[in-house]
Amino acid sequence: MDRDDQVKADPRRELPQIDTLVRILQTEHPDLEVWAIRHAAKEAIAEARKSIEAGKELFDLRKRVEEQGRDLLTPHPRRVVNATGVMVHTNLGRSPLSEAARLAVSEAAIRYTDLEIDLKSGRRGDRLGRVADLLRIASGAESAFAVNNNAAALLLLANTLAAGREVIVSRGELVEIGGSFRVPDILSRSGVILREVGTTNRTHLSDFEQAINSNTGLLLKVHPSNFMQQGYVKEVSLLDLVGLGKKSSVPVVEDLGSGLFTTENEWGLPRETNVSARLRTGVDAICLSGDKLLGGPQSGIILGKTEVVRSLKSNPLARALRLDKLSIAALDATLRDTLCKETAQGPPLWSQLSSRIEDLLKKAQELEELLTGLQIPGLTVQVQKALAPVGGGSVPGFSVESAVVRVKGGPVRAEILVKRLRRCAVPVMARIQENSVLFDVRTLLAGDQEVICQALDSVFSDR
Ligand SMILES: *Cc1c(COP(=O)(O)O)cnc(C)c1O
Repeated sequence: MDRDDQVKADPRRELPQIDTLVRILQTEHPDLEVWAIRHAAKEAIAEARKSIEAGKELFDLRKRVEEQGRDLLTPHPRRVVNATGVMVHTNLGRSPLSEAARLAVSEAAIRYTDLEIDLKSGRRGDRLGRVADLLRIASGAESAFAVNNNAAALLLLANTLAAGREVIVSRGELVEIGGSFRVPDILSRSGVILREVGTTNRTHLSDFEQAINSNTGLLLKVHPSNFMQQGYVKEVSLLDLVGLGKKSSVPVVEDLGSGLFTTENEWGLPRETNVSARLRTGVDAICLSGDKLLGGPQSGIILGKTEVVRSLKSNPLARALRLDKLSIAALDATLRDTLCKETAQGPPLWSQLSSRIEDLLKKAQELEELLTGLQIPGLTVQVQKALAPVGGGSVPGFSVESAVVRVKGGPVRAEILVKRLRRCAVPVMARIQENSVLFDVRTLLAGDQEVICQALDSVFSDR
């Protein structure tokens, strides 16, 4: 009798069956797909069981299933509005593609293509042949190759040129680029022996010279990408390193990170971003990301000497790191745009980098008017100038003048406001400054102003 009572009192027994919960949710939310409800219901019941066992308060089961079901039904990645002003934003997918690249990707995606066939001879073709041609033409390199991303490019270069041997790098250049990429880690996984020289702030050519021995496989220079050193600093120039490499018969590679294929000093960017100028030093190979300053798809571009590229291609790792057909299509289109810069529309990055402050202020005024028109009580909306970084670890310390719309006051705090903006139908990413939310117009794409307006309206709609 007593035992029976206890069994009935076990709250785990009160939990609904999965099928029952699914049926309820289906009736309440006919727009949700069954597979998502079923999965969410299973997880929610398992979690509820755990909370009961831990003596915690039970959450609202139906609400949880609905929320998690909706989450599962939201595609990923999905559109967001980049109002941060950071043009190459790693967390927001780096560079958006050009219209030409979009068309090339969609054609390659849904049709059969000549990816690996030579249509003239009918024989097997080279999937990267045309992209390599375009890369050579755009950069002046002897030879070119492309892999999945720049981390892969560095891995392949180090492994091909120096497996089992020493790679000499300055201690000032053993950088980390966004949590998961550290130069020393990728080098050790590529099977080389890392030989650090110099100090954090100063490395001399003689440091490299003294470290060279019969087991040296490579001299490596790495662009610090997302940080800058100032003050009592010294780095070895690429030109000097190349000279030493020639003298000692050791290949020299530079991981440039990000680079431009166009005329020097365009958009006022630092000279070191110019790919052709780097190659003219006589370096054996350089590597860079396709989705940073180039404005193309994720890819790792390698430019250099013919013998180097030939040995990269014959490394079995090249197959494991190879570029997929959609990225090849996008890279091909991006490079074609780059080759006819004067007439091509190009990726959004081009117009973002070259937009004039007067035009940006005008764009900001338009947005200001839209937002003021919402008539949200207590909200002040104001245009002001600001600085926008390029981002993506491309050109540290370099930023351009931009225009922002500052939104302040209203019924919610800035922290809450940005959080709610992130959860709108089309999420809006903005930044906070002194309890205001700033919308930088430099990175807004077509239609984004209206989305910001709708988002702000919906955030305050319960006013
Ligand atoms: C960004 C960067 C990388 C990593 O490139 P991914 O294309 O993200 O793999 C490597 N090295 C440098 C110097 C970089 O700036």
